Amino acid sequence: MSRYKILLVFGTRPEAIKMFPVVHALQAEPGIEVKLCVTAQHRALLDQVLDLADIVPDFDLDVMAPDQSLDKLTARLILALGEVFDAERPHRILVHGDTLTAMVATLAAYYRRIPVGHVEAGLRSGDILQPWPEEVNRRLISCSADLHFAPTQAAADALQAEGQDGRIIITGNTVVDALLATRAKLRERPALGEAIAPVISGFEGKQIIVVTSHRRENLGQGMVNAASAIREIAAREDVAVIYPIHPNPHVRASIMPQLADLANVALIEPLDYPNFVALLDACTLILTDSGGVQEEAPAFGKPVLVMRETTERPEGLAAGTARLVGTDPALIVKEVTRLLDDPLAYTAMARAHSPFGDGRAADRIAAILAEEASARASPHHLGEQPVPKALRLA
Ligand code: UDP
Repeated sequence: MSRYKILLVFGTRPEAIKMFPVVHALQAEPGIEVKLCVTAQHRALLDQVLDLADIVPDFDLDVMAPDQSLDKLTARLILALGEVFDAERPHRILVHGDTLTAMVATLAAYYRRIPVGHVEAGLRSGDILQPWPEEVNRRLISCSADLHFAPTQAAADALQAEGQDGRIIITGNTVVDALLATRAKLRERPALGEAIAPVISGFEGKQIIVVTSHRRENLGQGMVNAASAIREIAAREDVAVIYPIHPNPHVRASIMPQLADLANVALIEPLDYPNFVALLDACTLILTDSGGVQEEAPAFGKPVLVMRETTERPEGLAAGTARLVGTDPALIVKEVTRLLDDPLAYTAMARAHSPFGDGRAADRIAAILAEEASARASPHHLGEQPVPKALRLA
């Protein structure tokens, strides 16, 4: 009998970061044949992570195009993914999170009755417009996945409350696996962080604030507001801002005109993952609208101010390691200043604590899938294709 074939599908940098530990853990399972299809929704940023993790995709759909409208991308993705699924006939698809790639792959798999495992399932902001369109992408995936790998108890509770079919397993978030593995690699080979090292040492003696922003709902006025707050904060001599800017030209147009002339603000190209991890390790605090960075910051004990009105990752707020500041410039300046000037406020948020995972999530996911693979290999199994729940014998 052929091995149990799992096809992973992803297309963006954050998915690649969070899925490389899963790819590695599955590759170590003898009963599982691992195939990878990348859509390359974010070409350059994705490739950096694949190189770092030594992963060569079996299929590369390269759907990145100058016109990245959601409807065109959806149409392109469903046709291309459907062809791969028909050619490969995997036993299971594995997707991650809330991207268009993950949502469309789930739909194409459902059309073919291929079961879907969803890594990082169950995050909910409760507002379908924030994050947009990711909140709805994630909910749609939950409707047809039959294995929900929930990173936290709250995510599992959300899936249960919605009455989702299938099995819910709490695994921790694989981002903590990726982060800890990368920090360990950096300690062994400091040269992996050599791109950011001179920028950090150029600001010696200053408190370093790391900024990232890319959310669609903050494009335009939200980012202009945030940049004006950063300009005001950067007027302090004891502060330096390091800001890897997302390649999206709309993001750049909102930020660069306001900040490019400041000596203590380094506007830099996106960093590859080890360099970004080295920067997180060296900074004082983080200002971000990113999902993944919200999860990484507390594992390093770094306070994180979240430039969103709401978050689908409330665990950081509950643990006291994150605060929502939206994109109101006055509130951003107030909260950053409080952390810089009030050691008690800083210490309260800087507790190293990891509400999102313990670094073993990928092993747990691989163990569940290995169990499934060996159940299929047992003499009682009825056929080559896994039997969808609705068709299973009573
Ligand atoms: N990241 C990176 N280089 C950078 C900025 C971020 O490698 O210059 C990583 C970061 O550590 C996190 C992920 O990219 O793991 C977050 O990606 P992004 O903010 O684009 O997406 P989101 O997490 O909001 O979906």
